[in-house]
Amino acid sequence: MSDETLPVKDDVVCAPWHATVLTLYPDMFPGPLGTSLAGRGLEKGLWTLDTLHIREFAEGKHRNVDDTPAGGGAGMVLRPDVLARAIDHASGENDDRPRILLSPRGAPLTQQKVRELKDAGGAILVCGRFEGVDQRVIEARNLEEISIGDYILSGGEVGAMVLMDAVVRLLPGVMGKIASGEDESFESGLLEYPHYTRPTEWEGHEIPEILASGHHGKIADWRFEQAVELTRERRPDLYEAWVERQKKP
Ligand code: SAH
Repeated sequence: MSDETLPVKDDVVCAPWHATVLTLYPDMFPGPLGTSLAGRGLEKGLWTLDTLHIREFAEGKHRNVDDTPAGGGAGMVLRPDVLARAIDHASGENDDRPRILLSPRGAPLTQQKVRELKDAGGAILVCGRFEGVDQRVIEARNLEEISIGDYILSGGEVGAMVLMDAVVRLLPGVMGKIASGEDESFESGLLEYPHYTRPTEWEGHEIPEILASGHHGKIADWRFEQAVELTRERRPDLYEAWVERQKKP
């Protein structure tokens, strides 16, 4: 890879953001991340994605990766020995990338967390399946549990894709000229103001007059008021937190 293809930030060439995904379904990747912005970023070498097939770290004739839950109950649990071998293989020496387990019990993925993960230079993402993962490997390998929302998916793969999509669009060079999301929902703690484009009149609805005024200061004020109002209506939790932050000097 020539230096030209590497992301440049403040004239310093940075290594590509590096994801390693541990999964029982490596064929799912890159999936949707192979197209559009993320896909072009991948082609340009702005980030890299490896998958490790968890089953390759299983032993014995049947290469079992899971077993019945200790104490009884439905479903199967991923074995700690198999997962630990896969994790150890992925991290190797001098690899300080965060080790993440996608998990509905984890801390919710937020835009702030996404930025932290971007700055960490990459991540090892462990995708659970079945009932989940043996607790001992979570503790012994220091896995940080992250949830993408309060619902249950059938596996961690889609969650890993969500996380990577959110990180990758922030990498220098991925979004081209678009300011890397400074103005978006959540960045300021508020939801974003409404957008409009041509045609100026559509099915009898016009674009708010202020947007055609060419008065940038007034437009910025209007957008800010809209953002505050929308957040207050739709996300009282975010609104309250934002109000509290405004009180601080
Ligand atoms: N029995 C578990 C759910 C297992 S779902 C429970 O009740 O908590 C199987 C796998 O899907 C999980 O191990 C996890 O890797 C993934 N998964 C499910 N929901 C998720 C979510 N909201 N966020 C991130 N990963 C999730």
